[in-house]
Amino acid sequence: MMQCKEALPLIHEYLDGDLQRSDSQRLKEHLISCQACHALFKQLEKTDAMVRMLPPVKASDTLTAQIMSGLPQMKKRNTWMDWIRKHPAVSVAVVFATVMFGSFMSMWNDDTNLMVKGNDLQDVVIQGDTVTVPQGRTVKGDLVVQRGKLKVEGDVTGNLIVIDGTLNLASTAHISGQVTQVNEALGWIWYKIGEFVGMLSR
Ligand SMILES: [Zn+2]
Repeated sequence: MMQCKEALPLIHEYLDGDLQRSDSQRLKEHLISCQACHALFKQLEKTDAMVRMLPPVKASDTLTAQIMSGLPQMKKRNTWMDWIRKHPAVSVAVVFATVMFGSFMSMWNDDTNLMVKGNDLQDVVIQGDTVTVPQGRTVKGDLVVQRGKLKVEGDVTGNLIVIDGTLNLASTAHISGQVTQVNEALGWIWYKIGEFVGMLSR
């Protein structure tokens, strides 16, 4: 009888498309008898399918350009997508974790409310759907605003990401990182994948 710790690498190989037929039979038998591995298999398979679906659905050219410009070490246009194709199991697991257990669910389940995310929000002023970084104040790290009007008069030391909202940069504003405006859920997924691959290539 196959052990769970033996089944996991076989699941990854299966999703990568290079599992031997004999192993495939043994894996199938284990998945029938083990609920935990079967659930994991289903989850990884679903996420794998989701990632494979991404390339044909085009992200806007500017967004792709923004993602690519954030990946200085990977010069060729589709290198990072190739990397994901070659390592689906690893990348799928990480993308799955990032997207599903990170900010993604709460951000997109909550479809009327403003969402503000960041490591340092104490100087950020929120009034109605308007989010302001006042002049002379500094937000350390990234600032993410969804479905709101972001007005920056002060400093942001990280990246600024506005999702389904508007951005107003005052002449006194200073953003150290990149400014990204995303207008759809798919754009956000692309952004997260780009961020993840960028992290790996560092
Ligand atoms: Zn098992």
